[in-house]
Amino acid sequence: MLGAIILSVLAMTAIVSVRYLAASGLFAFVTNRVRPGYHAKLGTQIRKEIGWSLASAAIYGIPAGVVAWGWQALGWTRIYTEWDAYPLWYLPVAPMLYLLAHDSWFYWTHRLMHRPVWFRTMHAVHHASRPPTAWAAMSFHPWEALTGAVVIPALVFLIPIHVAMLGMVLLVMTVMGVTNHMGWEMFPKWLVHSRLGGWLITASHHQRHHEEYKCNYGLYFRIWDRLCGTDRGLSPNA
Ligand SMILES: [Zn+2]
Ligand SMILES: [Zn+2]
Repeated sequence: MLGAIILSVLAMTAIVSVRYLAASGLFAFVTNRVRPGYHAKLGTQIRKEIGWSLASAAIYGIPAGVVAWGWQALGWTRIYTEWDAYPLWYLPVAPMLYLLAHDSWFYWTHRLMHRPVWFRTMHAVHHASRPPTAWAAMSFHPWEALTGAVVIPALVFLIPIHVAMLGMVLLVMTVMGVTNHMGWEMFPKWLVHSRLGGWLITASHHQRHHEEYKCNYGLYFRIWDRLCGTDRGLSPNA
């Protein structure tokens, strides 16, 4: 049993690492085309971002691997595979609930990590990226990585979700984590500056967090930032 758990953890670590390298590599490549020179003089920083991110991948792999094993071996979790196990209208609702829950957890843990004592021990690593790049998507101190690694493995015990919708959540998590750090806005102006865009977090919103620190703490949505008065709007530089 222990062997199977370890194998599952190693497999998940490998998957998260490859996912990181593929997604960050792709958007770093695109950045070189769209913003030539953005990565100039950032070589040392990027090497550190990749190192911290791969360490984070190993940390993400532990709870993910244990839960994946428990799902397969013991029927843990509320992940389902039959399309009609829940009403069809629930299919798109579940990923929204996941994103909202993850966003809330992130907002409040992130705000705590900006208190000076926590910042130094947990969050300074992430802000060492100045400016951030696509490689900074998982550039976290291990303590911060742990706070992120437990979210999805905990939610699958609480909120039922179809396995394909869980895949969607992980895709959104990966793409937004990378693109929010790459230093330029890939979404069209008509969306970013629309009413809907006013509630969504994309690169130009998170860039401002990296520039000013004490604002724009959210992950996917601007709901908490707006409610708590921490939303300073978009960076003019992204
Ligand atoms: Zn960031
Ligand atoms: Zn921060």
